[in-house]
Amino acid sequence: MLDRFRRFLFPPRCAFCRTLLADDERYLCTACSQKNYAISRPKAYSGAFYAAALSAFVYEGEVRQILHRLKFHGGVHLAEFFASRMADKLDSAGWEFDLIVPVPSHFYRRYKKGYDHARLLAQELSRFTGAECAPLLKKVRRTKPMYGLHKAQRRANIIGSVTCTKPVDARHRRVLLVDDIITTGCTAAECARVLRDYGAETVYVITAAGVK
Ligand SMILES: [Zn+2]
Repeated sequence: MLDRFRRFLFPPRCAFCRTLLADDERYLCTACSQKNYAISRPKAYSGAFYAAALSAFVYEGEVRQILHRLKFHGGVHLAEFFASRMADKLDSAGWEFDLIVPVPSHFYRRYKKGYDHARLLAQELSRFTGAECAPLLKKVRRTKPMYGLHKAQRRANIIGSVTCTKPVDARHRRVLLVDDIITTGCTAAECARVLRDYGAETVYVITAAGVK
């Protein structure tokens, strides 16, 4: 009843093209869901501290646009859509993990924006998978945007900028690290390095989008 009332007040729209959804459609309209946005293969990044990384989408076209909406323009409702696709990816990968940890953003950025998109994705993913969400990582200094930096600069930019707020509980040793996008994997690698220093046995990485 409540759900029907909510649908009446806020009719759900397609995350990509914004047309109204039919009762049997979820997140995307039929036309958009038939387009092939899904990313092909998992990408391995060399020298990383994590076991493997997966993305739900390729970072291009509509995906790029709506990810920007989630990240910069208050599109917090989009976290559920992305998380649902990330959960599908995890299902087919068959990874086993006990704890979901978002890649941290600096306090100042969170304060300016009013929310933290990686944490929203992690929380939604926790609902879909049943694994506990624990924001164990903290950004201790601000970093430059990674965009436009070379690989060596990216590494220098991120190293030492993340810390773990407490040891990773021995009962939760397999960690799933969550972020919106992965490009060279530098940020994920640094977060995984810290998590493993603090006791995580394995770190997997899932992001909403990744480069081809
Ligand atoms: Zn659509």
